[in-house]
Amino acid sequence: HGTLLEMFRASVERAPGTEAIRYFDGVLTLADLDAASDALAVALAGHGFLPGDRLAVYVQNNPAFVVGLIAAWKAGGSAVAVNPMNKAREVTYLLADSGATALLCLDELYESVARDVIASGGTNVGTVVTCSPLDWQTRDDPRLFPDPDATRATGRPAGTLDLLTLVREYAGRTPEPHTPAPDDVAVLTYTSGTTGVPKGAMNTHAGMVFNTCTYREWMGLTPDDSVLGVAPLFHITGLVGHLTLALLLPCPLVLAHRFDPGVVLDALREHRPTFTVGAITVFISLSAAPGAASEDFSSLRVVYSGGAPVAPAVIARIREVTGLYIHNCYGLTETNSPSHAVPLHTEAPVDPATGALSVGVPVFDTVVRILDDGGEEVPVGETGEIATYGPQVVPGYWGRPEATAESLPGGELRTGDVGFMDEQGWFYLVDRKKDMINAAGYKVWPREVEDVLYGHPAVREAAVVGVPDEYRGETVKAFVSLKDPDHRQPAPGTGTGPGGATDTDGEREPVTEAGLIAYCRERMAAYKYPRSVVFLDELPKTSTGKILRRELRPDTR
Ligand code: ATP
Repeated sequence: HGTLLEMFRASVERAPGTEAIRYFDGVLTLADLDAASDALAVALAGHGFLPGDRLAVYVQNNPAFVVGLIAAWKAGGSAVAVNPMNKAREVTYLLADSGATALLCLDELYESVARDVIASGGTNVGTVVTCSPLDWQTRDDPRLFPDPDATRATGRPAGTLDLLTLVREYAGRTPEPHTPAPDDVAVLTYTSGTTGVPKGAMNTHAGMVFNTCTYREWMGLTPDDSVLGVAPLFHITGLVGHLTLALLLPCPLVLAHRFDPGVVLDALREHRPTFTVGAITVFISLSAAPGAASEDFSSLRVVYSGGAPVAPAVIARIREVTGLYIHNCYGLTETNSPSHAVPLHTEAPVDPATGALSVGVPVFDTVVRILDDGGEEVPVGETGEIATYGPQVVPGYWGRPEATAESLPGGELRTGDVGFMDEQGWFYLVDRKKDMINAAGYKVWPREVEDVLYGHPAVREAAVVGVPDEYRGETVKAFVSLKDPDHRQPAPGTGTGPGGATDTDGEREPVTEAGLIAYCRERMAAYKYPRSVVFLDELPKTSTGKILRRELRPDTR
């Protein structure tokens, strides 16, 4: 299929009764999604939405998100995925930058954020459709085809249209036929901004279809599978690794409205999904949830982690608790999710020199080079910037020809990630280029230090940054959260020895800064080990669960 819309339509035609979305107790079949998105597309067009326009979607994970996306394509336009955690300043920026003319928004986000953003001018939004997190939440929900007077007499923000009312009003109407071209933007996805200003990656139909197929083939999925949605749908992992994948197979998408271990474990018990992909922090949280060891994770026959670094010790610990073997995969918003993945049911190698776990090998039709600072390819085994070329790579950033030329010269993506390939063709990520710490001229890659910290039995999460140092220029500082925060306090009657790593005489040694520094010092060259350690209850993260080193740097703290 050249476009996501053709892909969706083929699935509807083949299996209209397939349960496409399971959300709390509610179920939407493919036919329901088709009908609701037809109606919304007609309604949008009736309110001035033209082919080529953009519909911003500012909702948490729920069926309205899906209806909004498909309706935007049916109306000849594209969608702009907005992080529901974004606040007024960020929403203003995204709406203005994308030039969206219509907005689909959760009613509470309209009240708290979007109303003022639109009223303040500076955006082109003329049509606002609101929806509720309760929509489509129960089976046989009368709100699926609601009586507008009875169900929505109150509560709808003034000046907006209500999604389910539109779905009812326009039921049975089909939009003017608009067929997107494969190279048209399907979704503008803003890079989450762990670096620089957010830019709208142009995720085209062709790029998204390609990697939707990559997930299906690489992960060996069939219509008998079901997808557990743990990643946010506004992020490329949720979009391609959950949503379009489930629509293609087709198979049910079990949608967690937000990531919360309790919510996800409930969904797991009730729906027994078979596949998921998410940031490793998702699986760390699930395996640390109370009662996780007696939870039955066995329905999840294929699990991938992507989007953030993974330490081998963490994979082993999760496997011990849950029985799940987590495969690593690597990609960016700009590669529509994976460019590399570990083949199914294969143990990824660990690089003996750095202890890094391989991110896998390039997926289908993807050519990857490792480049030096001058843009020349380096020999096998040497470290440099990863440059990726393939059908899933975006053509550029929305309205930013300079950024496009800089990051995508000749269509090859300069990822900003530093890594290497071994003799067998396995790839390893060393770190992000800009996160390198320069300690008296020695390169320190935070990842390597973090991997060692993750090997400490008490450490839950670790992040390492460079801080200014008079003597070395920069030095290494670690931030750590512990599995049990009380582990820091010496238990009554015990000493405060420096180790903290192991139990001695049955007593648990407290974990101290000096103890962790000593632990690292034993395991790495002198210029690499952290000179200070700060304990935090939680490390700052993006909404996809990625640890934000940027917020830990001295200039931002
Ligand atoms: P930015 O806006 O700075 O590009 P981002 O984190 O928002 O950052 P994403 O596209 O969400 O951008 O994430 C892509 C990045 O995530 C990659 O460049 C890489 O650094 C990291 N990453 C993805 N997968 C892995 C993995 N398996 N191991 C280590 N890092 C990974």
